[in-house]
Formats: sequence, C-alpha cells, structure tokens
Amino acid sequence: MQELTHYIGGEHVKGTSGRFADVYNPATGEVQAKVPLANAEEMAGAVAIAAEAQVAWAATNPQRRARVLMAFVGLLNRDMEKLAEALSREHGKTIPDAKGDVQRGLEVVEYCIGAPELLKGDYTDAAGPGIDMYSMRQALGVTAGITPFNFPAMIPMWMFAPAIACGNAFILKPSERDPSVPLMLAELLEEAGLPKGILQVVNGDKEAVDAILHDEIIQSVGFVGSTPIAEYIYATGCANGKRVQCFGGAKNHMIIMPDADMEQAADALVGAGYGAAGERCMAISVAVPVGEDTADRLIEALVPKIEKLKVGPYTAGNDVDYGPVVTSAAKANIERLVQTGIDQGAKLVVDGRNFNLQGYEDGFFVGPHLFDNVTPEMDIYKYEIFGPVLSTVRAGSYEEALKLAMDHEYGNGTAIFTRDGDAARDFASRVNVGMIGINVPIPVPLAYHTFGGWKKSVFGDLNQHGPDAFKFYTRTKTVTARWPSGIKQGGEFNFKPMD
Ligand code: NAD
Repeated sequence: MQELTHYIGGEHVKGTSGRFADVYNPATGEVQAKVPLANAEEMAGAVAIAAEAQVAWAATNPQRRARVLMAFVGLLNRDMEKLAEALSREHGKTIPDAKGDVQRGLEVVEYCIGAPELLKGDYTDAAGPGIDMYSMRQALGVTAGITPFNFPAMIPMWMFAPAIACGNAFILKPSERDPSVPLMLAELLEEAGLPKGILQVVNGDKEAVDAILHDEIIQSVGFVGSTPIAEYIYATGCANGKRVQCFGGAKNHMIIMPDADMEQAADALVGAGYGAAGERCMAISVAVPVGEDTADRLIEALVPKIEKLKVGPYTAGNDVDYGPVVTSAAKANIERLVQTGIDQGAKLVVDGRNFNLQGYEDGFFVGPHLFDNVTPEMDIYKYEIFGPVLSTVRAGSYEEALKLAMDHEYGNGTAIFTRDGDAARDFASRVNVGMIGINVPIPVPLAYHTFGGWKKSVFGDLNQHGPDAFKFYTRTKTVTARWPSGIKQGGEFNFKPMD
C-alpha cells in the first residue's frame, strides 16, 4: 500500500499526525494509497517555511518569476501523459478529460507569465505642485488554497499560478480524494526553478483546513468546493481577518427555445450533463425546454444519445464517454437522490439504476439517468446531485424558463440554445448567473477572462484567474511623494578645467 506524503520545504515529508485517509481507484473500488491528514502543528511548520522563503521570492523581479512559470509550462507539456494517468487513476475521469483538466490549468499558468505587465502600477506625474503619486501592487505574503476533488490539476493551478506570480508563497490543501497530481505539480514547479518553500502541499481534511483558517501568518484563503463548506470557510476566514474567496456548488440550467437546432442542443446536453459523470461545477443538470412540443422533441432526441453512452474505466481508452464517480459515498448519494425523484413523481425516462460493468463490479459506476416532468419542489431539482443525472423541467414560456434559472439558489453557469439573437441577448442581460453560454453548454471562461458564479455559488467579490486573480493576490500601496529642492540649485553645471 503506497503511503503518500506532504510536500514541505521542497521535500516529500511523511505525515506525523497518525491520521490517514484512503485514496481509491474509483474504477475498481480498491484502496490504492493512504494520504496523511495533517494536524495544526504540521501546518504551522509549513507556514513558517513559507514565510521565510517568501521574502526573497517577493523581491525577485517579476520577469524572473514569470520565467519559472514559463519553464513549468514546458514541463507540464512534457509530463502530460503521466499527469493524466495519475489523475484518472484517482479521480476516475477519462484520459482525454484528464488532459483537459491539466490543460485548462496550464492556460492560467500561461496567462500568469504576463505578471510583469499585470503587476505594473499606476503613476500620476505632478498630482500637485512638485508632487507625484504612484500605486504599486505588492504580494500578500503567505497565501493558502483549499481545492475540490473534481479538478485536481486545474483548480490548484488557478490558485497557485497567480499567487506565486505575484510574489506570494502558497500552501495548497488539495482534496484528500485525489492528492497525487497536486504533489506532482509541486515537484514540477521546483524542477522549473521555483525556490523551495514557495509552493507546498499539505494534505488533510477539516483539521488542516481549520489550521489554515486560524493561522495568524496566512493572509488569504481561496476555496473551491461545495456550498456549505464554502460558507463555513468564508465566515471563519473573514472573522479571522483574512482575505477570502470561496466558490461553491451549482445547478446549471440550459434553456432550449422552440427555434433551437434540436440535434445540436441534445448533443450539447449529453456532453454537458454526463461528461465526467456529471462531476463538474459547470455541468448542465437541468434542461428547460420552452413549450410542450420543444420538450417532446428534446426528449425524443436525447434518449437514443443517452442510451448509447459508454460508461467504463479510463483504461478502456477513447471509447469511454465517462468513468466512475469518485467514491462509494458519492454513488450512494446519487442513488438516494434518484429515488427521491421517483418518489416525488418525476418521470424516469432513462433508468441508469442497477448499472453493472463486467469485471468492475466493485467500481463506483453510475449509469446515466434522464428525468422528465421535474418540478421546482423536488429534491432532484433543489439539490446538486453531482452525478450523471439530467432533470427536465418543462417551461410554458421563455419568461417562465428565465424565472426558473433566476429563482434557483445557485448561480454558477447557465446556457440558452436558440437561433433568436434577441432572446439570447435578453437572457444574457437579465439572468442573475455569473457565466452564460449562448449555444455553448459549458461556458467556462478562458484564462484571460475571470471565472465565478453568483448567488450561493460564490462567497467573496473577486473572481478566479484573469485580472481578478492579480488583484486578489496583491495589496495596493499608494505613494504620494514630494522632494525638497535638490542640487540643481546649488550645483555646478559648467564644464570647468581642472584647477
Ligand atoms: P467539498 O466541499 O467536499 O471539499 C472541498 C474541499 O474542502 C476539500 O479540500 C475538502 O478536504 C475540504 N473539506 C471538506 N469538508 C470540510 C469541512 N467540514 N471543513 C473544512 N474543509 C472541508 O467538495 P468536493 O466534493 O471535493 O467537490 C465538489 C463540489 O465542489 C461541488 O459542490 C462542486 O459544485 C464544487 N465545485 C465548485 C466549483 C466552482 O468554481 N464554483 C468548481 C469545482 C467544484
């Protein structure tokens, strides 16, 4: 049984708390490693190393810091296959999807190579008589991030790339479900030239998180995960005077207008609803066809596509559409919610229950489910299922569809499928959701824009990556300067022969 480590001060360090969590291979259901769960003392040790290393790193010019990230991009590309394999083995997603996970993180690293430009301050010449004023953005110091299981490469990179580009040290507390890729990323960054102690990985659970939240040296906390934990971390971190940004759960609606290209909409829904077994915060989990005829046509187009989906282990190659869910507990929770859907009167059009994969009977596989006639009172509508379950809510009109998306407590992403530019424009303008797709089902903004939802999908103000990240990971300092008259009045300016 492999015993994983922390990565502290540039070394793989064994856990000393005596507590461990099991890391599964979700495809087989086997425990493949043990990950140490840090206590407050281990966290404090890492923070002390980070605080010492950070001073010199912040004083390193931003172009040199950017060069480390440039080399890191090269190493990520070099090791793409290895990273994707390790990621799929612990998470369960397919290899192409795992590469996408690394790639969308890598793109944020590429953006952060622009740090010298992004960190340039503002300058006002002659703000008053003989007075100049300038603002600079300085690193916070030691920063920390707590990340979810579903993107073990991308989300850590979304946090630590801008943090270290800005001159901070960063402590990553990754998900205890799939900690191997974060450890590999830390090693690669050091190979790229990052000084020891600037990026450390401290594995753990609530105990390690609480140690971060109560640590007096850590200046900021980034969190991505479920909404109840996001709320807790935001409240506790803020109460302890930290800068905090937390991104929570989602229930993303896709509106299908009567004029939509139904084949295109159905294909989009299948990819966005079932890809990665529905374990994406930008997955579409609610389809909202407008009008009975649209709904009937949509269901008719969806069913054969869903029935054709291939569910299997990542080792089965490119034929597999999605893999297992992350744990047996996640599987049990999905099955429980599906049962509430049936009990509360939704129509189960595609029944993924009792899905069985020969040779992988102990894996955490869940067959695809499609519900029709779902109503807003049902649990399958209210709660994030985070599994391969798509709910259809039939709306009588565009306004009714819009209201559904607006009244839901989550506001991460949403999409509209239509050929009507006016409807699309109205939707994008009025809906109270952070990321909108127009004939695009998973509108994840690229690295140079910012990522963030609204409502209960976010706690804090600034978004992730893009220019917001450079604001989150720096403080503004503004200098007003006036100089007394210098030597220009008493000085000698004539070129004189030597005496
Ligand atoms: P989670 O909330 O269970 O765990 C996230 C992190 O919090 C992990 O590092 C975990 O160790 C830690 N944690 C868990 N319980 C804790 C507790 N009681 N106290 C302190 N820390 C705790 O989330 P998950 O299951 O890993 O990820 C799935 C969730 O993340 C979904 O809700 C999904 O929508 C959300 N998510 C959101 C975004 C976004 O950008 N909004 C992106 C990806 C995932």
